[in-house]
Amino acid sequence: MQQQGAGTPDWDDETLAIRAGTERSPFGEHSEAMYPTSSYVFTSAAEAAARFAEVEPGYTYSRFTNPSVTMFENRLAALEGAERCVATASGMSAINALCMALLKQGDHIVASQSLFGSTIGLFNNILSRFGISVSYVPLSETAAWRDAVQPNTRLFFMETPSNPLTEVGDIRAVAEIAHQAGALLAVDNCFATPILQKPLQMGADLVVHSATKYLDGQGRVLGGAVLGKADLMQQVFLYLRTAGPTLSAFNAWVLLKALETLPLRMERHCRNAAELAAWLQAQSAVKRVFYPGLPDHPQHELASAQLALPGGMLSFVVVGGREAAWQVIDACQLISITGNLGDSRSTITHPATTTHFRISPEARELAGIGEGLLRVSVGLESVQDLQADLARGLARLA
Ligand SMILES: *Cc1c(COP(=O)(O)O)cnc(C)c1O
Repeated sequence: MQQQGAGTPDWDDETLAIRAGTERSPFGEHSEAMYPTSSYVFTSAAEAAARFAEVEPGYTYSRFTNPSVTMFENRLAALEGAERCVATASGMSAINALCMALLKQGDHIVASQSLFGSTIGLFNNILSRFGISVSYVPLSETAAWRDAVQPNTRLFFMETPSNPLTEVGDIRAVAEIAHQAGALLAVDNCFATPILQKPLQMGADLVVHSATKYLDGQGRVLGGAVLGKADLMQQVFLYLRTAGPTLSAFNAWVLLKALETLPLRMERHCRNAAELAAWLQAQSAVKRVFYPGLPDHPQHELASAQLALPGGMLSFVVVGGREAAWQVIDACQLISITGNLGDSRSTITHPATTTHFRISPEARELAGIGEGLLRVSVGLESVQDLQADLARGLARLA
């Protein structure tokens, strides 16, 4: 296969998203081919031996590597500015692989409080059984990260912007604290994508993705990735090829094509979200809007410095609690009622009774996830149509 576009860091994101990582077979296909094969054949016993011994580069088995997966990995690595990317079957398998590959019994994690629910489940219910402990800190309180350090702290883990309140953590400052403590900083870059934020260039050691969200952006496949320096990634790769949750060729191919439009999509997601946030702020039935692009956002300044654009996710509080929030949802005829996010289709959810319902009401209140809170993943539809859809429900509260 001929390599096209790998190792061209001087290209802009718009070009990398379309060209980086492309490899062509002897057929010379313009659009990348898909390689749904479990294994590969060799021309001789000696070649097989050389491939298995990794003396000769090449493919042996698709749990280890696959050409479609390699192309996706190289393209995403180029966008994140990473030495290496290892693709996984889902976002959770990326986070699990990172922890299993780089942590051991007795290690300690410092993590931001507002994490994806399954990440908290992994840390609290699974890693704990293997003697790994975790302390949670408020994402945006930088000093709290330092205070939570223990002698056995090996990993800092943050998700920024956070779900659903779009809280922003200071990647540069927290990376410095992690390194002083001899720990690695991993950033879940799912909400921002490399188009809006490149954590590795701000001092983070690792980036994880749920490719299921914006990277696909059309709600078709599950996928994930871990990115970082080659030596760390080699450990993640060795864990994955042994334990098995690698990405399928089909999903890799879908994601590879999806990346081509990622810069365009993120631009429009952000423009629609910014317009919708400003409009929501002017509605009498809306008490408060959380969006990093709004001047009254608690970390607006940091968000403006750290993110190229404020993102496609927002949340808002309606007057009247759960009943009112549910009325707004039930009046939607366009926006999908689902917990998924990062899709070209706008989605709306009531965090307190869906994505965050397992958390106790007291903990939810403490985290600011009240009964009147609604989260919108702003899609690519006309923003006027989205406003009209929300206006119908909001009018009933007035
Ligand atoms: C969805 C999500 C995950 C998990 O990804 P899956 O692909 O569903 O396994 C992790 N982190 C964040 C921020 C997410 O939104």
